[in-house]
Amino acid sequence: MYGTLYRRVLLPLFERGLKGRQTLRYWREAELSQWWDASRLREFQLQALRNLLRHAAETCPAHRERFTRAGVDAGSLHTLEDFQRWPLMTREIIREQRFELRSIAPFRLLTKGTGGSSGVPLQFDLDEASHERRIAMTHRGYGWAGGEPGTKQLYVWGSHVGQVPRWKQLKSSLHARFNRHTMISCFDFRPETMRGHLERWNRCRPEVVVAYTGPLYELARYVEQHRLEVFAPRSIIVGAEKLHDFQRETMQRVFGAPVFETYGSREFMLIGAECERHAGLHLSMENLLVEILDDQGQPVPAGQEGNVVITDLFNYGMPFIRYVNGDRAIAGFEMCPCGRGLPLLKQVVGRQLDVLETADGRKIPGEFFPHLLKEFPAIRRFQVVQRDPSLITLRLVTSEAFTDSDRAMLTAEVMQKTGTETEIVLDFVDDIPLTRAGKLKVVVRELPDDVPADVSATEAVEPGAEAGGRPEASPSETPILPG
Ligand SMILES: [Zn+2]
Repeated sequence: MYGTLYRRVLLPLFERGLKGRQTLRYWREAELSQWWDASRLREFQLQALRNLLRHAAETCPAHRERFTRAGVDAGSLHTLEDFQRWPLMTREIIREQRFELRSIAPFRLLTKGTGGSSGVPLQFDLDEASHERRIAMTHRGYGWAGGEPGTKQLYVWGSHVGQVPRWKQLKSSLHARFNRHTMISCFDFRPETMRGHLERWNRCRPEVVVAYTGPLYELARYVEQHRLEVFAPRSIIVGAEKLHDFQRETMQRVFGAPVFETYGSREFMLIGAECERHAGLHLSMENLLVEILDDQGQPVPAGQEGNVVITDLFNYGMPFIRYVNGDRAIAGFEMCPCGRGLPLLKQVVGRQLDVLETADGRKIPGEFFPHLLKEFPAIRRFQVVQRDPSLITLRLVTSEAFTDSDRAMLTAEVMQKTGTETEIVLDFVDDIPLTRAGKLKVVVRELPDDVPADVSATEAVEPGAEAGGRPEASPSETPILPG
């Protein structure tokens, strides 16, 4: 079978032989450590944290200064609770001090960007080893859902935005073949393309479907409404947005497979994933230290909602230490009946991005915009507003680096998705006000005939639910793409 051949021979040859990576070793180790008891895992975290803080103080100028100002040093970290004295990091700090936050030690860095479901685009760096550790975490987490490398996977995901050079297209398609991945672009969901997407699904006969939550739910409803035949995969892995119970039920009914929720972001890749018990999201604990804090930076009691704060224990190239990622989650890390020592994150209450509609009937998932706008570094903040199907307004806070050609390119890219019947207006503003919760609503949809119908029909969305993981994560952020 290709799956076994892939895991035992091809993947090791590629990863270790060709690329000199340690991904598979990290993965093997993670498969063992998930069964350690919680106290051993916490001890592992404490040790890793001490090393990270020492490294940051010694080699990252901005961290050293921040630690000194807060009067903290790694030598005084005796328990994980001591860590509460360390200062928090925001997206703004990273934007302003990206280069000073990097280590001066010679790491080979990878640069990533995120459009930010919080509406603040960001560029950041990570070192190669930490990238390999993240991929290992994703292999493990997807494996809980039967989606380990080598399985035949169909992605219902955001595709490349903008002009992709031919060599890049070719490289992607070779990678996809090698990894047995097929792709359906959820940025291309229109009445006239839906059947084509389903045909692709049925031809592919995937073992596992990996999808953005919202678009897959939309596809499920389309199948149901039109009474279409659809091939049943073994399991479905969803991410990038919060998964509501009514969505899980519909997908399971229509696609005939269990749904596994994941939570991840561009900054850290897989943060948590469900195991076969579906009791919550097991944290990628060997890699990430996750805290849920109130607005004053204090831990919130179990059962209450707070801000998600994450420390990456191994990104030595550019340490993320107590980074407030903009998501909200319910506190209280319980253990899972499956016996793994990794505690569960009960629930992510993220940001749910609305779907926009165009005059010619296309539906554009809100995720499209963070995905596109991350390609424009001069955009500091954005918000997409639709109050009428014939008009979409992009409110933008830009720096002086935003050029006329940026303007033309942005309009052209949006219109390619929306068609010519919907007008696109770029509205340059000095600021975009935050919601009362201190969040930026990235997509505002207030169409005249909007009734929250299909939500209220099944169950109420939790009050204040603004969304899940990060929408702009693309398949290249998942275990897959070598290279
Ligand atoms: Zn479990």
